[in-house]
Amino acid sequence: MSEPLIFEISSPGRCGAFLPDCDVPPTPLPTEMVREDLPLPEVSEVDVIRHYVRLSQLNYGVDKGFYPLGSCTMKYNPKVNEVAARLPGFVRTHPYQDPDSVQGNLALMFELQEYLKELSGFEAVSLQPAAGAHGELTGVLIIRAYHQAQGDSKRTKMLIPDSAHGTNPASTTMCGYTTVEIKSDERGNVDLEDLRAHCDDTVAGLMLTNPNTLGLFDEHVLEIADLVHGCGGLLYGDGANFNALMGIAKPAHLGFDVMHFNLHKTFSTPHGGGGPGSGPVGVSRRLAPFLPGPIVVREVSEESCVCGGEEHEEECYILRWAMPERSIGRMKSFYGNFSVLIKAYTYIRMLGAEGLRQVSENAVLNANYLLHRLKKAYPLPYDRTCMHEFVLGGPPPEAEGIHTMDVAKRLMDYGFHPPTVYFPLIVREAIMIEPTETESKDTLDAFAEAMLKIAEEAVHNPDLLHSAPHVTPVTRLDEVRAAREPRLRWVPPE
Ligand SMILES: *Cc1c(COP(=O)(O)O)cnc(C)c1O
Repeated sequence: MSEPLIFEISSPGRCGAFLPDCDVPPTPLPTEMVREDLPLPEVSEVDVIRHYVRLSQLNYGVDKGFYPLGSCTMKYNPKVNEVAARLPGFVRTHPYQDPDSVQGNLALMFELQEYLKELSGFEAVSLQPAAGAHGELTGVLIIRAYHQAQGDSKRTKMLIPDSAHGTNPASTTMCGYTTVEIKSDERGNVDLEDLRAHCDDTVAGLMLTNPNTLGLFDEHVLEIADLVHGCGGLLYGDGANFNALMGIAKPAHLGFDVMHFNLHKTFSTPHGGGGPGSGPVGVSRRLAPFLPGPIVVREVSEESCVCGGEEHEEECYILRWAMPERSIGRMKSFYGNFSVLIKAYTYIRMLGAEGLRQVSENAVLNANYLLHRLKKAYPLPYDRTCMHEFVLGGPPPEAEGIHTMDVAKRLMDYGFHPPTVYFPLIVREAIMIEPTETESKDTLDAFAEAMLKIAEEAVHNPDLLHSAPHVTPVTRLDEVRAAREPRLRWVPPE
């Protein structure tokens, strides 16, 4: 890093805080509270401010530039969401409050449940889970509870396509199921022959991501659902790619029994770096009694309701918490990540039904536009119309000794966050690009130009890629050493 760190500009006696003279007799701190081995930097106020502002500027985020990280849906996060989430009426409520006193909060949660039901076609939704992976765990626990309630104890296996996200087998394993991998066919769909060969009465279900992590809509999704249901299993939907489907197709109509939403992806909450996220789960009728709770229900109120001193003529509702009949229990303390729910609700209300459909249409359009510009220079293992993202098969074949990692690193020199790399695992040297609907054609063109330029450099000037990035605060890192010997804090020089 070119700029000095705060410890390095420390100067003995310099101070950023000015306290009034002591007007009481001083009492020394108890000796056990005094540490001599804690050298704090001695700096002025302006030193501190510049230090932290500089650090914040080293960060790359979606508010700074294009962030085409495949599968992560790094769309722009409208600031109106933050304004809504900060409204005092929301911020100053407490989870222990009597439901009567937080009817507004409950109304927001109830309506969000309804919107997610409408978008997905499911019978019921729980807002409890804190992220996509947590939603998967919830969904698979629901599947397990359902089979147990049927007295069906033979089912020990969960089928998972080889293109799936790593959280799918992890969630499955946490629920005590064995993962069985199902192959993909040459068009990037689930291989129906392989699936048929594995469908039997030991199968609890199949976890399907549709569109899948290749950015492709599975052309046989209805047959897949029939096969899984035919052997008594349930179809789980990994909804991380819902950004391609909103207002166009409802997962419940495609045969899914249960699916999680990633509110922080599809519904525009800032994410990365660990949260907070939100992964509500939607289910079909037969699974509704097993949902985690509490969920919000709306009841017609017996008493006439009085609002603002005036008697209302129309029907009155009261919102309350309810635990589904055979609930798997709570998945989260209190009521989910409420601030993320506010942001998702605001996003949905700002866009409306038509707007949400346009989000998905433009996400798909943007991805196909980039795909067509880039496939001239980069290998494309599955040459099909893509959904909201697509996967390239690494650097141009003529570029000897150049790997996907080199292309990703070089992109930083052009000012772009690299795409997802080396995932999905079934594509060697994978480069997974998801532009999202919030990018303009100008940005997509600038990115395409950079990628095409890099493809040329990879052939004619490979060293430029090997040593990239060159203009970032830190240049090429030894990633293996960084993983094995992580240095997570600054250590003073000896
Ligand atoms: C992001 C993602 C997940 C996990 O979701 P989190 O919210 O990060 O826990 C699961 N599957 C796919 C395909 C994803 O892209």
